[in-house]
Amino acid sequence: MTPTSTLERRPAAGTKPFRPDLVYFEPAALDYAMGKRIHEWAQEQGIPIRMTSSHNRITNLPGESELEKYKIAKRTLVVGIRKTLKFDTSKPSAEYAIPIGTGCMGHCHYCYLQTTLGAKPYVRIYVNIDEILEAAQGYIAEREPEITRFEAACTSDPVGLEPITGSLKRLIEFMADQPLGRLRFVTKYHHVDSLLDARHNGHTRIRFSVNADYVIRNFEPATSRLEERIEAAGKVAGAGYPLGFIIAPIIGFDGWEEGYSELLRKLREQVQVTPQNDLTFELIQHRFTKTAKRVIEQRYPKTKLEMDEAKRKYKWGRYGIGKYVYPNEQAEALREFITEQIFAHFPEARIEYFT
Ligand code: SF4
Repeated sequence: MTPTSTLERRPAAGTKPFRPDLVYFEPAALDYAMGKRIHEWAQEQGIPIRMTSSHNRITNLPGESELEKYKIAKRTLVVGIRKTLKFDTSKPSAEYAIPIGTGCMGHCHYCYLQTTLGAKPYVRIYVNIDEILEAAQGYIAEREPEITRFEAACTSDPVGLEPITGSLKRLIEFMADQPLGRLRFVTKYHHVDSLLDARHNGHTRIRFSVNADYVIRNFEPATSRLEERIEAAGKVAGAGYPLGFIIAPIIGFDGWEEGYSELLRKLREQVQVTPQNDLTFELIQHRFTKTAKRVIEQRYPKTKLEMDEAKRKYKWGRYGIGKYVYPNEQAEALREFITEQIFAHFPEARIEYFT
């Protein structure tokens, strides 16, 4: 059995919340209420617990081969303290990335965490939320009278971790009281129930990453199914949150037009949006770097993800690291068609960007 075929099986009964196979704690994390709560939960669940001096240095993970280590790391939770409270920027969707977690249990073949997290694919969560919020407050004050937006999903999928952490609820209720602060995050999971009664004051935008069925089936193992994400989007809309959909990565597979029009049709039929939801779309075409291609081919050797440099356009990026995107004509065809479909089904929606 290949790792891919094992992971592609999705339970018909619904995607269960993430339950790690192994949990590490930094000793100081147990001085925080959140750390204690997670420790008790792991004990109750019978999950093996280990201690580590630093969440940045987990060196003794089990596993024989690199691939096995990678798979085990993806199911390993590390509970620590975020020491760096300097936030990264997060263009184009927000001013700053708010760090509440790093790493993800999903196995999306194209995920950029494959390369950005390098040898540390395990899932880290941070218990010093009060200090993180204090730092956010400082960033908001610096930009007054401008609004400052914080993205909580730059380096992980926080909704998938929310049943364990409860961090998003804290952030949402904090941001509700910030006249000039806004929160946003994106997810491929449907575990939003604990957020529905949070006091959000319209200051948090919840976005769901959605895609054509072909893309989800082939490239997004270990995430919630499209139907589950759509149902969750309906609940979030009903709770009055600003709502968004991110269609990413947009892939020009055989039959993409039908695939994406079907997606927009499903969204229209199943999600009731109101003006209060201020629906937005963000569109991101598939891209890859040479390094990402190498890593993806090692980790998902049977992937059908098309990464043929000859079929792509090279786009120079920051620090001289270029990416392969679709050639202009193909990118334009994808953008135009999907934009038309969005406006046909959601004339009131805003498209924030296509990149
Ligand atoms: S759910 Fe998001 S963060 Fe997690 S593996 Fe997939 S793309 Fe990466």
